[in-house]
Amino acid sequence: MNIDLTRRAFLGGAGAGVAATTLGAFGFDGVEAAHAAAVKAFRLAKTVEARSSCPYCAVCCGMMIYSAESKSEPGKMEVVHIEGDADNPVNRGTLCPKGAAAIDYIRSPKRVKAPMYRKPGASEFEEVSWDFAMERIARLMKDDRDANFVETNNDGVTVNRWSSMGFLSGSSVTNETGWLTFKVARGLGMLQIENQARI
Ligand code: SF4
Repeated sequence: MNIDLTRRAFLGGAGAGVAATTLGAFGFDGVEAAHAAAVKAFRLAKTVEARSSCPYCAVCCGMMIYSAESKSEPGKMEVVHIEGDADNPVNRGTLCPKGAAAIDYIRSPKRVKAPMYRKPGASEFEEVSWDFAMERIARLMKDDRDANFVETNNDGVTVNRWSSMGFLSGSSVTNETGWLTFKVARGLGMLQIENQARI
């Protein structure tokens, strides 16, 4: 017989099974069923599990994100629990207090979920599309590079540098993304390149 027993189902049933078997061995047969019925289901049993990484610092700890259908908005999924990823070699299931409290940041009404833009002269930011943000950034970068790119220094030596623009990269990216990020920035001639990770 092929038994498809998931880790979660095993953990959910193991507590009830062990307790009921022990009581039965002492002759309290009728208690077994009542005890098993009183055991609460594993609280993450009906959640959807996803892997992610903490975005806050250079450690980049692995996280397990658990989602379930919202009680206030049926049909919509919401994050109900976060814990460290025991399989991640960086943190082995642990999270610092900031990472462990990440669910509060996710649920915060102040969380920024889209690019924000403050028009020249305006006092307030407004939400814009990613297309708008990317176009705007590309336009400003091109204009600045055209105006400030330096091909040769005072001695006539080729330098191809763009010193009026800097680039800040994040720490929660893969080695390959980090490599590509720096290739693009250096390829454009940028000198001021910083990374959140500082490694
Ligand atoms: S859980 Fe803490 S140590 Fe780990 S990446 Fe997040 S902020 Fe950094």
